[in-house]
Amino acid sequence: MAKLSMNEKLPFDEATAPPRVSTGDLPMHAEIRRLVTEAYERYRSDDSGTVADYIPLLAEASPDLFGIAVVGAWGRSFEIGDVAARFSIQSVSKPFVFALVCDELGYEAARLRLGVNSTGFPFNSLMAVELNAERTMNPLVNAGAIATTSLAPGSTPEEKWESIRERLSLFAGRELTINAEVYASESATNRRNHGIAHLLNSYERLYSDPDEATDIYTRQCSLDVTTHDLAVMASTLANGGVNPVTGDTVIGPGVCRRVLAVMASAGLYELSGDWLYQIGVPGKSGVSGGIVTVAPGKGGLATYSPPLDAAGNSVRGQLATKYLAERLGLNLFASVPAEGPPVPAVIDSNWGLRPGGCARRPFGRRSVQQHGDEGEEQHRQHAGTDECRSVLPQHRAAGNSDLGQRHDEGQRGRRAQHQLSALAEDQRVAVDNQHR
Ligand code: GLN
Repeated sequence: MAKLSMNEKLPFDEATAPPRVSTGDLPMHAEIRRLVTEAYERYRSDDSGTVADYIPLLAEASPDLFGIAVVGAWGRSFEIGDVAARFSIQSVSKPFVFALVCDELGYEAARLRLGVNSTGFPFNSLMAVELNAERTMNPLVNAGAIATTSLAPGSTPEEKWESIRERLSLFAGRELTINAEVYASESATNRRNHGIAHLLNSYERLYSDPDEATDIYTRQCSLDVTTHDLAVMASTLANGGVNPVTGDTVIGPGVCRRVLAVMASAGLYELSGDWLYQIGVPGKSGVSGGIVTVAPGKGGLATYSPPLDAAGNSVRGQLATKYLAERLGLNLFASVPAEGPPVPAVIDSNWGLRPGGCARRPFGRRSVQQHGDEGEEQHRQHAGTDECRSVLPQHRAAGNSDLGQRHDEGQRGRRAQHQLSALAEDQRVAVDNQHR
C-alpha cells in the first residue's frame, strides 16, 4: 500500500515567537467546585461497565472507586471522591512518553518514525484489515506506544526506564514509582505485546530490542498514580509544557501542541472520534480506569473509576468528563453566534492595502455596530500608513511600537485577575475535600 502522508513541504516550525494563542478561561472557582460536585453526585451510583481482568491484578480493583480532579493552568486544584487512591497509569502514560521522545528527537522526526494518524486507511477502503504501510499508526495504540518507548533516551534499558520515570514524575510534580504487583502481573501475561514488538521489529519499525522495549513499556504502564497526579499531568499539557504546580518546564509548547493533536485523534482508541464529537478536547484513557482530558490554556481534568466499556474506557469517567466539559466550557469546537443583528453590506476586502498585509484586525461586527462609519473610516486611514506595513510580531521584536506590549499587558491583566480571585478564595478552601 502506498505511503500516505500530508504534504511534507508544510512548514513545521512555530511561526511566531511568542506564539499567538487563543484559549480562554475556566469559570470562577466557586462555579468549578459546584460543577465538580454535581458531576460526582450524578454518576457515582452508575454501575455499568466491567473492571479489566486481562491483567489479573487489575481485576481486584473495587468497582466503586470514583474520583474527579481539575487542576487549572494557574495550578489550583478542585478534587472530589477517591482522588488519593493509587492505581497503575496504564495507557495514560503513552502521550507523556511520546512527549519526551518528541522532545528528544524533534516532533517531526518522531512523526516520521511513529506515525500520527488515527487509521491511515483511505476514506473508501473496503478492507479495514488491510495492513498499513507504516506499521505503527500513532504513539497511543500499543504498537506505536511500544515503538515510542523503544526511542526513549538512554543507552541501556535501565537508563531508558529512568528517563521515562523521571520525565513522567516531572509531569506529575512528584516522584512516581512502579507498582510492583501490577508489573509482575502484566509481565506474566503480556505475550501479545511481545508479539507486537517482534512483528514491528521484523518491519524495522522498532528501535531497540523487542523484549527490552516491551519490558520497559510494561514498567511505564505500571507506574502508580492518583487522580490528582493525572490532573496535574494533564494541566502541564494545558499549560504549554510547564507544570503549573511546580513551575518546572517539562516540555516545550511546540511538542505540547503535537501531543495534544495526537490525543485528540487517537486518545480513546476506536472511540476517539466519538469522544471528540461529544467532548471536543484531547483525552487519553487507560485500562485501569483513568482518563485525562486537556483544555489548552485552561487546565487539566482527570477521572478515575475502574469499570470500563467494551473499548476499554472508564464509563463513569466518560460521563463525568462529558458533563464537566460542557459546563466548564472546554469544547474546542464550540462557538456561539455573535451578539446583535448582522451588519448588512459591510465587506472588508483588502482595505486598500498593498501586498504584505496589515496586522490590525479588520473591524468586527461589534465594532462596526458601536463605531459605525467613524470606526470604519479610522481603519481606512490606518491602511497604507507605515504602521500598517508591519505585522504585530515584527513590532514586538523591534520594540518600536507599543502594540505588542499592549497585547502582553492584557494577558498579564487576565492572569493577575485570576490570582486575586484565587487569593480571596484561599481563605475558604484550597482543595474541596468534603466529599472524600
Ligand atoms: N498495559 C496495557 C496493555 O498494554 C495498557 C492498555 C491500556 O491501558 N489500554 O495492554
